[in-house]
Amino acid sequence: MSVALLWLRRDLRLADHPALCAALGSAERLVPVFCLDRRLLEGRNRSDVRTQLLIDCLKELDRSLQERGSGLVLVDGAPERKLPALARALGAQAVHASADLAPFAVRRDRRVRRALESMGVALHLHPGLYVVDDPAAIRTRAGEPHTTFTPYHRAWCKAERRAVLAAPPLLPPLVGATRRTQLPSPSQLGLRGARARAPRGGEEAARQAMEAFLAEGLDGYARDRQLLREGASSRLSPYLRFGCISPRELEALASPGADAQELHRQLCWRDFYAQVLRHFPENVRHEHQRRYRGTLRFERSERAFQAWREGRTGYPIVDAAMRQLASEGWLPNRARLISACFLCKDLGIDWRWGERWFMRQLLDGDVASNNGNWQWIASVGVDPQPPARRLYNPVLQQRRYDPDGRYVRRHLPELARVPDEHLAEPWLMPAALQREVGCVIGRDYPAPIVEHACARREALCRYERARHRGAVESGRAPAARQSVADCERGDRSSQIGHTDM
Ligand SMILES: Cc1cc2nc3c(=O)[nH]c(=O)nc-3n(C[C@H](O)[C@H](O)[C@H](O)COP(=O)(O)OP(=O)(O)OC[C@H]3O[C@@H](n4cnc5c(N)ncnc54)[C@H](O)[C@@H]3O)c2cc1C
Repeated sequence: MSVALLWLRRDLRLADHPALCAALGSAERLVPVFCLDRRLLEGRNRSDVRTQLLIDCLKELDRSLQERGSGLVLVDGAPERKLPALARALGAQAVHASADLAPFAVRRDRRVRRALESMGVALHLHPGLYVVDDPAAIRTRAGEPHTTFTPYHRAWCKAERRAVLAAPPLLPPLVGATRRTQLPSPSQLGLRGARARAPRGGEEAARQAMEAFLAEGLDGYARDRQLLREGASSRLSPYLRFGCISPRELEALASPGADAQELHRQLCWRDFYAQVLRHFPENVRHEHQRRYRGTLRFERSERAFQAWREGRTGYPIVDAAMRQLASEGWLPNRARLISACFLCKDLGIDWRWGERWFMRQLLDGDVASNNGNWQWIASVGVDPQPPARRLYNPVLQQRRYDPDGRYVRRHLPELARVPDEHLAEPWLMPAALQREVGCVIGRDYPAPIVEHACARREALCRYERARHRGAVESGRAPAARQSVADCERGDRSSQIGHTDM
């Protein structure tokens, strides 16, 4: 009897699953297996909310595998040790999995392949995690990896697409000798309480959310997706993160029209950042732009970082975002951009601190998308633009993306009675009005931690100096000495904000 293992990782679904279909077609018996890899669950990017969602997704997957006559086998340990042992015990000839481009996954899969091959078992990797089969195979005409989005997007639109695959209605039973391990409880994994608004895990919930969005939410998406309003975007990212829905199927179901095209473009960003990290794995730790590696001098203020994390910067839009992140484990894209920009530009804090905090908090935390977007907003990554182009004024951003103040008031109840005209700059309210609306600045809500105009100037100088250092270090000292000197003079005169950190 031929046996294949289906090694599930972040493809926790049965519909549109090329690895599942290939495994089914290649062997008489199929054993779906998931490895609880403690290096991921307890490592650098450990996240209680995401682990909780993962467990929910696995429970659901086990349920639907059982409905079809199979079941999920759970092994606790590193796959390079556990999979060969399982393959040997069950007499499996092959292991099938969905190719994952993240640096950890690529290294892990190499080790697993070596371990399996040494005992004559093949590891087959299939598409399924991205819209296109292999986002990293899309190259420039010169054969180089893409580092700007627009040309990548153009080529991505033209790349061939595979057909969407139906979920198999029935599956072969597990091999007799298979021992199924119980899923650990949240407390066994050391998790604290789940979040009030965490979505239900699993493929069924994901499909319901996808269908609801396509039926009711897609209309107007291109126009509204940046607004800080319930329902402005799909909120499917946690499901895409765990593969409860297939990005390829989502693309196929959302068409045609301008709204669908805009959704495709956003899905392309996901593929784009995945290929960036595949080609430049060192970006996990370093700025993509070499001139900024080790040359940016960051503020190391724990106090400012804590105020940012806790939503106490005094800028309502930033604070509302950070409180939403803490309570829901999710943020709309615009809120991510504003709060991330504030951390690395206004507060001058290392973007890696923010990146790591997001990874711990986000239900959709994904190394490639998170790293790529943090580098983008910190102006140190691919798709470069001058730092000033991505330096947002939080007051203007609030007026533009939360014009009726609903978002801010929902997440900052202390500002509930602040009149609209003061909501973006509550510190400008007259003292009597502050008392009247129950929002005394410094007592009920903090004064701004920095003054944006000063912080903006300092940020631009920081980048200018870093570029200069980079040029000196690489022997290309620019004629920018004068402007660096100007910056340093400017720096000394604009410390107002930072003395308060
Ligand atoms: C600082 C920062 C950190 C981020 N970290 C993550 C992360 O860890 N995981 C993550 O999935 N997204 C991340 N994003 C991208 C984006 O904010 C989220 O994907 C999006 O907000 C999810 O909401 P949605 O599903 O409603 O998006 P929609 O607007 O409905 O978009 C549909 C899907 O497209 C993809 N997508 C949309 N925008 C982006 C983008 N800019 N980059 C990559 N993919 C995108 C997502 O998979 C998303 O679910 C980050 C953005 C910023 C600015």
